[in-house]
Amino acid sequence: MLRLLALAVLGLLIFLLIRSTVSAFLAGFGATARTGGPARALRNDLVKDPVCATYVPRRTAVARTAGATTYYFCSPACAAKFEAPT
Ligand SMILES: [Zn+2]
Repeated sequence: MLRLLALAVLGLLIFLLIRSTVSAFLAGFGATARTGGPARALRNDLVKDPVCATYVPRRTAVARTAGATTYYFCSPACAAKFEAPT
């Protein structure tokens, strides 16, 4: 019975050790993830739809990547037209 109690305490200690390690890791990760300031401003500029020549805000545009270039479209219909021209 006493051995079971010792085992439970040991298990709790291991759990606390793992939890503190994980939270320390997550805190460090959060600090690096927050340093992405200028990227937000870039998402608000206008991009041109190559299919219908409409300018759309980048954050609402439909994006398609072809090779190293990313194209932005006003709607999924324009993106489909660009991918399969008929
Ligand atoms: Zn369009």
